[in-house]
Amino acid sequence: MKLSQFLSHPNRVSLKDFDTRKRHKYNVTSSREQRTYGGVVFDSLAERDKYIELINDPLTIWIDCHVAVSLPGGLRFKIDFIVWRRTFCKIHDRNDACCPAPEAIEVKGVATSDFKIKRKLFNEFHPLKPLSVIRRQGKRWVEV
Ligand SMILES: [Zn+2]
Repeated sequence: MKLSQFLSHPNRVSLKDFDTRKRHKYNVTSSREQRTYGGVVFDSLAERDKYIELINDPLTIWIDCHVAVSLPGGLRFKIDFIVWRRTFCKIHDRNDACCPAPEAIEVKGVATSDFKIKRKLFNEFHPLKPLSVIRRQGKRWVEV
């Protein structure tokens, strides 16, 4: 979210939620080229790296990137990834794509008040709940 959008946002609580220092750390230092992989431009290097990790997972069947979903009150929420994975199939006795399990994943450096509201609404109403929110900590991913 751009600062101008944030300032005019109806759900804005206070300026402290917009931490330019942290956003700089996660978003601005990398170039568009660095954040691009497989033709997709990601918001951060962490998001790009998560994508690479997901496509290399043998259980992954499909990844939808930057998916806009609807939330109550006419809100729109763009989720980083919806990953479709193989699950164990009793008919074929193996992991396969007969009944794929979707997971909504959001890579977040900073949780803005805007995001917190959307996450709460998503987890309450959307059938793809719960939203998995992760952040990179060194070489690991941690739940936010
Ligand atoms: Zn099957």
